[in-house]
Amino acid sequence: MGIVVQKYGGSSLADADAIKRVARRIVDIKKAGHDVVVAVSAMGDTTDDLLDLANGVSPLPPAREMDMLLTAGERISMALVAMAISDLGFTARSFTGSQAGVITDSVHGKAKIIDVTPGRITQAIGEGHIVIVAGFQGVSADTKEITTLGRGGTDTTAVALAAALEADVCEIYTDVDGVFTADPRIVPSARKLDQVSYEEMLELAACGAKILHLRCVEYGRRYGIPIHVRSSFSQLEGTWVVSDPGSRAPEEETMEQPIIAGVAHDRSEAKITVVGVPDKVGEAARIFEALADAQINLDMIVQNISAAATSLTDISFTLPRTDGQNAMTALARIQAEVGYDKLLYDDKIGKVSLIGAGMRSHPGITSKFFGALASAGVNIGMISTSEIRISVIVDENAVDDAVRATHTAFDLDADEVEAVVYGGTGR
Ligand code: ADP
Ligand code: ASP
Ligand code: MG
Repeated sequence: MGIVVQKYGGSSLADADAIKRVARRIVDIKKAGHDVVVAVSAMGDTTDDLLDLANGVSPLPPAREMDMLLTAGERISMALVAMAISDLGFTARSFTGSQAGVITDSVHGKAKIIDVTPGRITQAIGEGHIVIVAGFQGVSADTKEITTLGRGGTDTTAVALAAALEADVCEIYTDVDGVFTADPRIVPSARKLDQVSYEEMLELAACGAKILHLRCVEYGRRYGIPIHVRSSFSQLEGTWVVSDPGSRAPEEETMEQPIIAGVAHDRSEAKITVVGVPDKVGEAARIFEALADAQINLDMIVQNISAAATSLTDISFTLPRTDGQNAMTALARIQAEVGYDKLLYDDKIGKVSLIGAGMRSHPGITSKFFGALASAGVNIGMISTSEIRISVIVDENAVDDAVRATHTAFDLDADEVEAVVYGGTGR
C-alpha cells in the first residue's frame, strides 16, 4: 500500500503523554500496511518560548542564529516521537530538514522550499522504518546554512514531502476538527467545512487563518496533493482541501457551493504611513523598491489624493509586524532622496477578511459586510479586495467583534455548537 504523509502540530505534541498518543496513531497506520512519513512541529509553545529567550538575550538577534535556535524545537520533537515509536516495538528514524533533503533558498526566517531530495527517507522506508522529519526547516542550496520556513511552516514541510514521495494525500493533524467558517476560539458557533477549494483556502491562509500555512496550500495546489486537515484528538473526518469541492461528495449530496467559505482574522500586521511624499513620477517606485530590497512582503497599500496646495501625498501600507523594524530602517535611509516628511508606525491594528468564491457572482456582499461592521460599531481603516475576498483593517481591539458580527450577518453560525478546541493555547 502507498505512502501516508502526516503532520502533527505543536498542540498535538504538548507533553510526553501527547507524544505517546501520537506515536500510537502513527503505529496504527504502519500496522494497516502503509509506509509512514511524519513531519513534526516543536512541542507546545516551544517556538514562542525560544523566541522570547532570544529576545531576552539580544534586541535584534542575527537571523542565522535565530534559525539555528528555532530549528532545535522540531529536533526535540522528532527524536522524542521516534523514541515513543520504538517503545511500541516499531523502528523509527528521525531526520532534520537538511538530512531529509529539504532544500530552500537562503532567506533566513522565511525560506522557500526549492527542491526536496528525499533519498534518505526512501532508503529508511525501504529498510522498514517509520520516518519522522523535523518540520519548518531546510538547508540553503547556496549558503549551506540551516533555514526556517516561517511560522507554521511544518504544514509546508509535510505537503512538500507528500509531493516528493508521490503520496496520495497529506494529513495535517491539529487541535481542532478541521477548517471552520471562522477561528473556533473566537466564534464557538463556527461550522466545520467538509471541503474547501485550494483557491479559498489560499485566501483564508493568506488572511491569517493559521490552521494551514499559506505555502503549504500553494504547494498542494501546484502538485495536486489533497490536504486532509483533522484533529489528532478525535477520529472524526476533517476538512478536505481539494481543487474541486463537491467532486468527493456522493451524487445526491452535491449541491451548489456556499457563497462564503469563511471569515479570517489576522493580528500579526502593522501599518506604516509615509507622510508628505512629493507627488511626482517615480516616488512610490523608489519607496517600494527600498522595501523590496529589504525582502519585505507588503499587504495593503493606500495612497491618498495629494493636497492641491502642497502637492504632497501620504502612502500607507501594511506588512508583517515582524518586519516593522526593518521596514522603518530601510525607509529612513531614503528620506533625503525621496524628500518625504516623516514615518508613522502603528501596530495596534487587525485585519478581518470575508472569503468566498461565490462573491464573483453575487452582488451586495460588500454592503452586507460593511453594514455588519457598522452595526457592531467597528470603524474601517483600510480596505482591499480580490475577486473572492474583501479585507478591512480595524482597531486591534475590535477584531473579535468584527469577526462575530460578520459571521452572523452571513448566516454562518451553526444551529448547535460543533466546534471543539481540544488543545493548544492559541498563541
Ligand atoms: P498546530 O499546532 O496544529 O499547527 P495551529 O495553532 O497552527 O495548530 O493551528 C490550529 C489553530 O488554528 C486552531 O486551534 C484555531 O484556533 C486556529 N484557526 C484559525 N482560523 C481557523 C479556522 N478557520 N478553522 C480552524 N481553526 C482555525
Ligand atoms: N514550530 C514552528 C512554529 O511554531 C513551526 C510549526 O509549528 O509549524 O511556527
Ligand atoms: Mg500550525
